[in-house]
Amino acid sequence: MAAGVAISGAAAALGSQTPPVNSMNEIAERYVKLVLALGQHDAAYVDAYYGRPEWKADAERQKRPLAEIGDTAAQTLKALAAVRETIDAGDTMVVLRYEYLRHQLQALQARVGMLSGKKLTFDEESAALYDAVAPRHSESDFRKPLDEIGALLPGPGPLMERYDAFRQQFVIPPARLSVVFDAAIAECRRRTLQYLALPKGERFTVEYVTNKSWSGYNWYQGNFRSLIQVNTDLPIYIDRAIDLACHEGYPGHHVYNALLEEHLVRRRGWIEMTVYPLFSPQSLIAEGSANYGIEVAFPGEERVAYERDVLFPAAGLDPAKADEYYRIQALTERLSYAGNEAARRYLDGEIDRKTAAAWLARFALMSPARAEQRTRFMDDYRSYVINYNLGKDLVKDFVEERAGTAGGARRWQLFGRLLTSPILPSSLRQP
Ligand SMILES: [Zn+2]
Repeated sequence: MAAGVAISGAAAALGSQTPPVNSMNEIAERYVKLVLALGQHDAAYVDAYYGRPEWKADAERQKRPLAEIGDTAAQTLKALAAVRETIDAGDTMVVLRYEYLRHQLQALQARVGMLSGKKLTFDEESAALYDAVAPRHSESDFRKPLDEIGALLPGPGPLMERYDAFRQQFVIPPARLSVVFDAAIAECRRRTLQYLALPKGERFTVEYVTNKSWSGYNWYQGNFRSLIQVNTDLPIYIDRAIDLACHEGYPGHHVYNALLEEHLVRRRGWIEMTVYPLFSPQSLIAEGSANYGIEVAFPGEERVAYERDVLFPAAGLDPAKADEYYRIQALTERLSYAGNEAARRYLDGEIDRKTAAAWLARFALMSPARAEQRTRFMDDYRSYVINYNLGKDLVKDFVEERAGTAGGARRWQLFGRLLTSPILPSSLRQP
């Protein structure tokens, strides 16, 4: 494939100049092969791969045992440590590359351990796989936003039911889904292109699917293409159009993957980026940037204005209700960490599925059907749940601390820099 040709050319050019970089390239190759090998034991592990097809075929044929994968990962980490003193400490991108390979390899080792039967607590697991631990919250932390939502939605019955009844007015009719999504995608792309140069020929296709534990998914296919799937099992509310268009598309997952391919794989020959292991620190950056990208694309009141003027009419909803809807949405966002608490208790075995779903209904205002879907997501993806909200907060802090009071263009610039670098959570937190 085209990407493979570009890689070998760039790698050869780099190798002929500087042996240390060549060593890092060798470690990168071993890393890619290890991820592909581990993918044979864990169907969800390799989220994307667009490197040499024969390496994937080799992994399938060899089916290396877990213990052997673990041993090779340990040896590769040792080889990487030996490279440390040869790299130029002043070259930020090369230092980030080194840290990327180190953390990704350590997470791979942790995943080998989990698949071999090692039990980790929720926090141990998220530290090992995602390089981050979610803060703890108590029930009282969610009381204030719940009380504020309650005051806006008065009436008898539990708040979740009142909230659910209110939301029924904002369901996109299934027949209008694709029109609304297409409009949202076009607008997110237009806004992104004002500030970020995207590779020529980038594009994605959207498919509507059912029977999944997630609500949307971006499958990056290489060559600047993605397949985006939208799950229609449950009613889709109007806010999902911008959320999905930004999160899965522009400037979210599709843009992140396409920019990594263009800047790191094709220009620098960093083949480690041709594979994306889902249970790894890179996922915190991916989910965090995809969620924060919504605010970057639609700062302040711009989102409500666009929704009111364009998407509500396209969905056949009453535009006069857009302000109220988004006032309540902003409050429910403050409940997002309730989801982490439910997941932590459920996966640590402190509560069962029913209790976890009840907690989600009470503190995150999820309907019974959505709460049940969420517990199935927890079964499948476990501590991955922290990547959405903690990831967003870490990426947002990283960008906004550096942007200070500067305007949107500066935020886009910093955000674009993040999307074209191998930065991982622990490097995000450094000053
Ligand atoms: Zn995502």
